[in-house]
Amino acid sequence: MTAPDDRRTYLAEHLTEVRDRLSRACAAADRAPDSVTLLPVTKFFPASDVALLRELGCTEFGESREQDASPKVVEIGTDGVRWHMIGRLQRNKAKAVAAWAHAIHSVDTDRLVTALGKAVAGAVDNGDRTTDLDVYVQVSLDGDTHRGGVDRVDLEALTAQVSETAGLRLAGLMAVPPLGADADASFEDLQRLHAQVLASHPDATGLSAGMTGDLEEAVRHGSTCVRVGTAILGPRPITSP
Ligand SMILES: *Cc1c(COP(=O)(O)O)cnc(C)c1O
Repeated sequence: MTAPDDRRTYLAEHLTEVRDRLSRACAAADRAPDSVTLLPVTKFFPASDVALLRELGCTEFGESREQDASPKVVEIGTDGVRWHMIGRLQRNKAKAVAAWAHAIHSVDTDRLVTALGKAVAGAVDNGDRTTDLDVYVQVSLDGDTHRGGVDRVDLEALTAQVSETAGLRLAGLMAVPPLGADADASFEDLQRLHAQVLASHPDATGLSAGMTGDLEEAVRHGSTCVRVGTAILGPRPITSP
């Protein structure tokens, strides 16, 4: 077990490194440094790490599993903190997530959109939330939807459904490069799809793209939010799904 002071030092150093990396990526892409949000991904790490990252100035956190996230949210709270659900979500978890999530990055089916709309309405009714839920539609770049994401042929219908659902706000798109695919080409493709979505939904300016291994490529292709776990927190305690 690492002493809290050692852990704080570790997180501070790695956070600084990632922030520098992000600034360099923005400069290289001729983009303003504040045009890309750094979303630390704290999945599988304890609430104590979230607390340390808060002290280091982070206010938004990404989580990928409802059962892992909800207890941390209880411990840390939502005051001054925005929680992002970035992993695949089963419809029966929509209610729990609607109680604490500022945003969800992994929406890929019409049935999940319907469930989230209902869940947000319920959360508003019982006082758990006051704002709309930001929704990023996750797109599958290779059409292998088993790995998450909607096939591009269904993208227009799904973004339209989100924008028409009360309680949800279409924030933009999210994607992960397919296994073994070239990150640069993948994010270029994603940026083109985002441009098509923006043509009908000009407010959907968010592009959630880039992780520890490929944030530079994502920033080059218009990412507005990089989701970074390993480079900040180290190797995850257990394997992610
Ligand atoms: C775990 C995860 C990340 C962070 O990945 P790292 O490679 O550790 O930076 C980003 N996005 C999603 C959807 C994830 O599940």
